[in-house]
Formats: sequence, structure tokens, C-alpha cells
Amino acid sequence: MTKIRRIQLNEREMPTQWYNIQADMPNPLLPLLHPGTKQPIQAADLEPLFARALIEQEVSTERYIDIPEEVQDLYRLYRPTPLHRAYNLEKMLDTPAKIYYKNESVSPPGSHKPNTAIPQAFYNYKEGVKKMTTETGAGQWGSALSFATNFFGIECKVFMVKVSYQQKPYRKSMMNLWNGSVIPSPSNETNAGRAFLAEDPNHPGSLGVAISEAIEVAATNEDTKYSLGSVLNHVLLHQTIIGLEAVKQLEMTGDFPDLVIGPFGGGSNFGGLSFPFLRYNFTEGKKTRCIAVESTSCPKLTKGKFEYDFGDTAGMTPLIPMYTLGHKFIPPAIHAGGLRYHGAGAIVSQLLKDKLIEARSVEQTESFEAAVTFARAEGMIPAPETSHAIAQAIKEAMIAREEGVAKTILFNFSGHGLLDMGAYDEYFAKNLQVQ
Ligand SMILES: *Cc1c(COP(=O)(O)O)cnc(C)c1O
Repeated sequence: MTKIRRIQLNEREMPTQWYNIQADMPNPLLPLLHPGTKQPIQAADLEPLFARALIEQEVSTERYIDIPEEVQDLYRLYRPTPLHRAYNLEKMLDTPAKIYYKNESVSPPGSHKPNTAIPQAFYNYKEGVKKMTTETGAGQWGSALSFATNFFGIECKVFMVKVSYQQKPYRKSMMNLWNGSVIPSPSNETNAGRAFLAEDPNHPGSLGVAISEAIEVAATNEDTKYSLGSVLNHVLLHQTIIGLEAVKQLEMTGDFPDLVIGPFGGGSNFGGLSFPFLRYNFTEGKKTRCIAVESTSCPKLTKGKFEYDFGDTAGMTPLIPMYTLGHKFIPPAIHAGGLRYHGAGAIVSQLLKDKLIEARSVEQTESFEAAVTFARAEGMIPAPETSHAIAQAIKEAMIAREEGVAKTILFNFSGHGLLDMGAYDEYFAKNLQVQ
């Protein structure tokens, strides 16, 4: 019998609405608090930073939200993305489990991040915004936002963590190609940046520092808005296109997942894949286990506290009710740059607190070992972030083997690692730190 390895939807079958889990969560979210007054934040407080449409989505409790035609049109540059059955990996692991993965690496920037960059650029364009600022660690988010703003003639300024700027020159080249400008952070362009440089002229930078710089530029310029690539509710909303497609694709196979697994930085690809499946738990009595996989070097979900904390290092963002390691936490320089964030976002944190999802952590060397196993079985080379989900999927497949149970496992292949080959070289040379 022919093995169907890639389950494909055609462009007409792409979902035309996002799923808003806030409509179905058993416990509603605690409000964001104003950083100065510590009172619940008002929409007007956020307007200097974000487009109004995005602020509305942030607090919306409508179950389905229409994807604008213009956004659908740009999604079709790379969507619907394929769902793969990892037959070779199953065979290599000798497991009765069925392993599926949703392949978000086929987007032009190489990850799931344009799923939110495109609508964010679109809504800002509609509201007359001329410039956008953001931060980036390893460069995945900065390249996704440059890719998206370029379609709408919006100028994009990316504050890139200085160590990554030096280590990952090709991500900078991608941003420049799509008309983005890239500034190593901390920089001399902002008060926040100058203060960090005064403390230490060789400051290596961090995501929290770069966010402070990007927010300052947006807050002090009338024509400029800020954009965040993870953590916030509207970002997770946009990413549900991943899970909505996967639901349709799995329907075509007759399988339904027992386990849904995603790597976890701030929650956007994990939420994007898992929320449409959690809806079946909340409304139809299904019992799918959803597992967020973080790095042991930045363990906010498995070791952090649930409390109000800032999203950035300088304390300029609203206070978010979330699992956090503290906004001053500077994680070690692991290669999975997208997982080096101290907090977790409000929705995912509330779900974890209510025990409706689970969290695990994976060590750096373990993640690379899993990545190599996967690449040798299935061919594709995963991003270091993605490898954390693969490591967990492999563990679950081995448990299924011990138990002799034919579970269905679905994980998110959130990005490819073709610009991370230096990290693979270090792994093979045994130069990587365990954590
Ligand atoms: C940014 C990134 C992540 C982590 O970010 P989330 O917002 O938690 O999804 C994971 N994988 C890849 C490839 C990324 O670029």
C-alpha cells in the first residue's frame, strides 16, 4: 500500500478564521497591569505601541476571528503547510506510535513566525503606520517581520541582541534583503541602550534589553509602532492557523492526536498548534495531552513562579500574569535563541496553572542528539528550538513502545536549521554545553 507521507490541503482549503481560545478557557485571564500605576491597563495605554485592531484582539472573547483577505493572500505564499507522517522515524525507533509533524519551516523566512508578522504588518498599514520596531534574538522574528513589512512599504527597524548579531550574520543579511534595518543592541540610539552601555561598554545584549530599546523608539515617535513576535494573546491567536490546518489534515487520515507537542519560547507556536486541539478537550470531552517543551537553561514553566512580571528587562511593558524566572534573568547563550526568554505569556500560563496543559524541559545536548536522529531518519534539519519538541516526541514514542500502545503523537516542526549549521558543527566537535 502506498504510504502517504505528506498530508496536503490545497489553497482553497486554508482556514479563513483564527481560533480564539479565550472564548473557551474555563478560567478567564487576569488583566494586564499598568507598569506605573499597577492598575488594570486600558486600551488607550497601549495605543502608542500597538495598532488598535491588535489591542482589540488582545482582549477579545469572540471564538472565531476572520482572517482579512489581504492576510490570507500573503499566507498563500507558503500556506497551507504540509503535515508529515514520520514513517522512517517510527521505524528507526521501533515504536507502535504514529508520529506526525506539522511543517512550518516551509515559510520563506523558515519558521512559523510570519503567521503573525503578516497580520501585524497589515493592521498597522491599515492604520497608517509608517515604521515598526522590534527586537530579535537569533534573528527568526526580525527576518519574519522584515519579510512582512516589506509587502506594505512599512520601514522596519530591528534591535538584534549583540552576541547574535556577531554570531549569525546571515540572519542580518535576510533582514537587509527584505528592506529591514538591523541595529546591534544595546545601541547608542536609545536612552535604555545608552544606560546599558554605560554600565558595560561590551554588554552582550539580551532579548529583554532589546525589547526595552524597541519599545522606547515606538513610544517616543508618533509614526512608529512596536511589534512582539510571541507571548501576547494576539500573537498566539494568529498562530492558531497552524493547529486549525492540522485538525483538517488529521481528519483526512482518520487519526486524532493523543499528544500534541511544541517547543516553547514565549508560547506562540505551541499555542498555535495546540489550542485548536484543546478546544476539543474543553467542548467535546477529548483528552489530548498538550506538552510545551522548554530549555532546561531557561525553565520558566517547570521552575518559574506564577506572578505579575515585566516582559522586558528595563520594566517598560505592562505587567503580565505569567510563569517567569524574573525579568532580570539572563539565560545562558544556548543555540536555541528563540527559547531564551524569561516569561511565558498569560494564556499559556493560566492553562498550565489550571493543569490543562503540561510542561517539560530538555537539555541542549539532548536536543541536538534528537535533531541528528530526526535529520538522519526524515532528512530535514531542524532549528535548535524545534529540536526540543523532537526530543520530547522521541521520548513519548519510546514510552509507547514500552507500554505497547499505538499512540498518535503530533509535534510542531517550527523551523529549519539551515542557518544554524555552526551550532551543529559545535555539537559534533563536542563543544556544546550540556544545558
Ligand atoms: C521563535 C521560535 C520558537 C520559539 O518561540 P515561540 O513563540 O514559543 O513559538 C520556536 N521555534 C522556532 C523555529 C522559532 O523561530
